[in-house]
Amino acid sequence: MTNLNRILHELIERDGPITVAEYMELALSHPEHGYYTTREPFGASGDFTTAPEVSQMFGELIGLWLGVAWRNMGRPDSVHLIELGPGRGTLMRDVLRAAEGVSGFCQAISVTLVEISGRLIEVQQETLRGAEISIQWQPAPDPLPVGPCLVVANEFIDALPVSQFVRAENEWRERLVGLEDDRLTFAVSGHGTDRAGAVARDLSASPGDIVERRAQAETLVRDISSHLSAYGGAALLIDYGHRLSGIGDTLQSVRSHEYHPPLDAPGTADLTAHVDFEALARAGREGGALIHGPVTQRSFLTELGILHRYRSLVENADDAQRRSLDSALGRLIGVNEMGSLFKVLALAAPGLQIEAGFDGIK
Ligand code: SAH
Repeated sequence: MTNLNRILHELIERDGPITVAEYMELALSHPEHGYYTTREPFGASGDFTTAPEVSQMFGELIGLWLGVAWRNMGRPDSVHLIELGPGRGTLMRDVLRAAEGVSGFCQAISVTLVEISGRLIEVQQETLRGAEISIQWQPAPDPLPVGPCLVVANEFIDALPVSQFVRAENEWRERLVGLEDDRLTFAVSGHGTDRAGAVARDLSASPGDIVERRAQAETLVRDISSHLSAYGGAALLIDYGHRLSGIGDTLQSVRSHEYHPPLDAPGTADLTAHVDFEALARAGREGGALIHGPVTQRSFLTELGILHRYRSLVENADDAQRRSLDSALGRLIGVNEMGSLFKVLALAAPGLQIEAGFDGIK
């Protein structure tokens, strides 16, 4: 039994079942035994591979998008470049390299990295060593630094806790994690709740159906959105998930690139659920920002010129590098790979033009 499993057993025996969101938060972020606190998630030897780890092309195009947004903001002298959940720091490294191509942009940037894991902060410091830009770390997005902001988050929202609700005859009931025969098991609350919110209200559901809601992510997006409305700027949120809210249990656990039952060995596997982009867009609108997308990652990267970037890298590549560029391109924009499952949503301060990447075919 993992240490975290023991802690969860004690907690549930003492206080009764916990919610799925509480379970997810402890499994990922428990200060001593959580997944992000203790494990090395990324890459071939880790549990999953993210887009910035697939190829430099991803971060470079995002860097250019951010540079264009900064120009369209009227080139403010100082802008906070904020990344939520920077992982190994690879995306920020590639963003900062591309930013050098936008005259004046690097001089304006100060970087804030939002990271909960002390271990990953050390990895990020190593990756970004030598960057001639001031970088500060904070453990949570709140409070965002005051002033114009450019925010980027890749595969951050999917790691925020999700609540699940099960349809009973005439009401929604929260899905819980309890104990049965000394094993963690799913259970359902004995009474109805209105915490399932707008999503559940608007769907027609049958008994047994499950809906998910990420209240913490909705609050985060609403807060970012009102911050952008107050100080100017834009945010780019990239994640895997669905365009429209729907019925379904998407909680999944991944270890060594394979799926595991989500209640097995908490703290030792990544635990995520699909992002509901319709709910995020609604939260963004409530905060006062303009919403672009969601579009697929394929459409976004193609419109930003990933094929040009690929061709220029291939020109100077040897055979092995060419094969790896081919495979990276396929992974980033292939329809059966990240290309269609991953979506991109942008929030912009009212009046700011940031159509790049969001004009084309969806
Ligand atoms: N963006 C990176 C990593 C994605 S994994 C990439 O694309 O490769 C999720 C990242 O978010 C990790 O760095 C993890 O430690 C961090 N994280 C997860 N939950 C967090 C939270 N609640 N607050 C701050 N950081 C968090």
